[in-house]
Amino acid sequence: MAGTETISGDIIEKLGVIAGAENVAADETGCLAYAYDATRLKGTPNAVVRPGSEEEISKILSLANERGVPVVPRGAGSGLSGGAVPSRGGIVLSFEKMNRIISVDTENRIATVQPGVVTADLQAAAEEKGLFYPPDPGSLAFCTIGGNVAENAGGMRALKYGVTRDYVIGLRAALPSGEVIRAGVKTAKGVVGYDLARLIVGSEGTLAVVTEITLRLIPLPEKVITMTAFFAGARQAGEAVAAVMASPFTPRCLEFLDGEALGAGAGKIGYALPEGAGAFLLIETDGSQDEAARQMDGIRALLNNKALRINITQDKAASAELWKLRRSTSQALFSIAPHKINEDTVVPVSRVPEALEGFGEIASRLGQKIICFGHAGDGNIHVNVMTDKSDPERLKEAEKAVFEVFRLVLALGGTISGEHGIGLTKLPYIGMELSAEEIELQKKIKSVFDPNGILNPGKIFP
Ligand SMILES: Cc1cc2nc3c(=O)[nH]c(=O)nc-3n(C[C@H](O)[C@H](O)[C@H](O)COP(=O)(O)OP(=O)(O)OC[C@H]3O[C@@H](n4cnc5c(N)ncnc54)[C@H](O)[C@@H]3O)c2cc1C
Repeated sequence: MAGTETISGDIIEKLGVIAGAENVAADETGCLAYAYDATRLKGTPNAVVRPGSEEEISKILSLANERGVPVVPRGAGSGLSGGAVPSRGGIVLSFEKMNRIISVDTENRIATVQPGVVTADLQAAAEEKGLFYPPDPGSLAFCTIGGNVAENAGGMRALKYGVTRDYVIGLRAALPSGEVIRAGVKTAKGVVGYDLARLIVGSEGTLAVVTEITLRLIPLPEKVITMTAFFAGARQAGEAVAAVMASPFTPRCLEFLDGEALGAGAGKIGYALPEGAGAFLLIETDGSQDEAARQMDGIRALLNNKALRINITQDKAASAELWKLRRSTSQALFSIAPHKINEDTVVPVSRVPEALEGFGEIASRLGQKIICFGHAGDGNIHVNVMTDKSDPERLKEAEKAVFEVFRLVLALGGTISGEHGIGLTKLPYIGMELSAEEIELQKKIKSVFDPNGILNPGKIFP
């Protein structure tokens, strides 16, 4: 298994010959900038390379494979599980130069992009042509399609439209040996052999380096209607989520904030909350004008007797105002504690009320502060255990709470990660969900792609 702490000077030189010396950094400052992702975990690489083409990527991998040097692909470093952190050093492959939207093909409703394209840029390019790329992680203004593919990113609209994997129909990728493969199709259907494209999606940069992606697009919905609803507490909001999802209506988003998250978010943006508000839902419907309105009317009728206050708008600017409260939350939580352990658990949506109650019970039993928000409509609740990582005792107690949270989620028929992946942070817990045999089978798949273990080593598997 690869895992070097230094790499020899001749490798740096060869990287310069392959990608151009101006695209290779091996100095302390240049490497430090690529040592973190959004988890704030640190692992300093020995070199950073910004390749400009698939051919360069293939040559870099081939060199690294020959010399047993770890290679860590990196998009924008916005990952929340440590996937892009070079925990064993080696070479970071950064795709900032490979950020071209190769085509938006309106006749076949597909887009072909390089991995470094920022998600919001693809969405804007699709919208210009009346098309829609629905996956919308909260980080869409800066994360990349390559990172989305590797993490199978979800987002607010996953409830109605699905996650990144539902839009990747084909891709090109370089294997650790340097060999380039094409997986999947450019057509609406395809079933020739195993579906390697779907296997590579969500593989967290451990099987292959994705060099080009073909994505399905759909027609842009004509109308979007946004609702915010305030509730007395998490239980009432959780019951409202379950009621909406058990009805014939399908919102495109159904986002949730508990009382603490709501208070922190409102404080950050100076929003005046209604009296007694202890939880919040943000709901959107879309489609034709009539359909979006019909869906929203139905949902409103379901919530009228449950909510303290409901606001609805069809106006884009007013909707952006309503979203501010939801979007301000994640960062606002740092006003409550210096750190948070942010888990992205999922439970079957009918069990959301039980999950929320259970997280509250764990918090009071273990004396921890647990704050919940997220994509409740598909059961994907971000559970934040607030802590101070510089205090080892406090961190240990917070980790106990994380373990209990995962135990509850699995008992409710859920999963420990809906969209952030295992990476480094959930590595100690993967065995809670997968059996030893399942982990062994996955490791065998990894070794077929990467027999020398050079690609993103130390991730996913304990
Ligand atoms: C404020 C905020 C909000 C967020 N909201 C959401 C959300 O709603 N939904 C969600 O799913 N996530 C969310 N995230 C997490 C994160 O943005 C996603 O996981 C995103 O997909 C990571 O993209 P990236 O370009 O930053 O990838 P990075 O963090 O750089 O890398 C992530 C993984 O992808 C691998 N990788 C990157 N490029 C390639 C490639 N070309 N080939 C192979 N492997 C590659 C890396 O090795 C790593 O394992 C959020 C993060 C933040 C900070």
